[in-house]
Amino acid sequence: MNALDFTDKVVLVTGASRGIGREIARQFAEQGARVVVHYGRNHSAAQETLTALPGSGHMTAQADMADSAALEQMVAEVVAHYGRLDVLINNAGIYEDHPLAETSYEAWQASWQHVIDVNLIGAANLCWLAGRQMIRQGYGRIVNVSSRGAFRGEPTGPAYGASKAGLNAMSQSLAKYLAPYNIFVGVVAPGFVETDMAAESLKGESGAAIRSQSPLNRVARPEEIAYPVLFLASEGAEWLTGTIVDANGASYLRT
Ligand code: NAD
Repeated sequence: MNALDFTDKVVLVTGASRGIGREIARQFAEQGARVVVHYGRNHSAAQETLTALPGSGHMTAQADMADSAALEQMVAEVVAHYGRLDVLINNAGIYEDHPLAETSYEAWQASWQHVIDVNLIGAANLCWLAGRQMIRQGYGRIVNVSSRGAFRGEPTGPAYGASKAGLNAMSQSLAKYLAPYNIFVGVVAPGFVETDMAAESLKGESGAAIRSQSPLNRVARPEEIAYPVLFLASEGAEWLTGTIVDANGASYLRT
């Protein structure tokens, strides 16, 4: 038996035009899923992800995570197209720096609003939209991509840390609420990953310092984050509902 078999499952991966999301989409497709490659702005990058996916029946779907109406329309289109939605992966996210001592009050508020809108409210809205469909069909899996920063702190990006801590708490609440409907919710909390989002921090001295946080002296590759995402969404992982999986190469161990 292949526990990671997702044959014919309909999987929506947000932020799949690049980075971790692109790799999550690829791994689901490799395991037989029909993947909805969600993107915000970069249609050609999403198209590139789509073209590279093995198997068939995949599609792209556009929506700004901060636009609740656009998300509603997107999920309606997915359900109209496939007749169902089995797995939601809330991967899209942004990081913004707003060091308190150097940020104006206006900029501080704007940045908090934007980060929370995209990382937390957007994911919550998609949980509602997908969750209602999953309740109707009596089956669903949701995996939210959080961050080590929720636990370790984000000194110069506190909205990011708070948004991911909120995502963790929301996931645990929904895991409890949705379990009776045969819908299970998990979280993967990565440390640094080799993607565009982290590219700047991974350069030069700061990069060396970040790599040395792990006893493996490196950061994660996107496939090492995608794997636990698939695992939590797989048949047999139901009892792990509500779990937050640390994927950080032992760079930060919580008890
Ligand atoms: P990335 O910047 O390469 O990809 C993020 C994706 O989210 C992009 O496709 C982007 O278009 C999409 N997105 C951002 N804002 C959006 C919006 N308003 N509407 C629609 N789509 C939007 O980053 P990544 O490294 O692949 O990150 C993926 C997830 O992993 C994020 O949630 C991030 O917080 C988390 N994460 C990343 C790292 C890291 O070091 N790279 C570490 C911990 C957690």
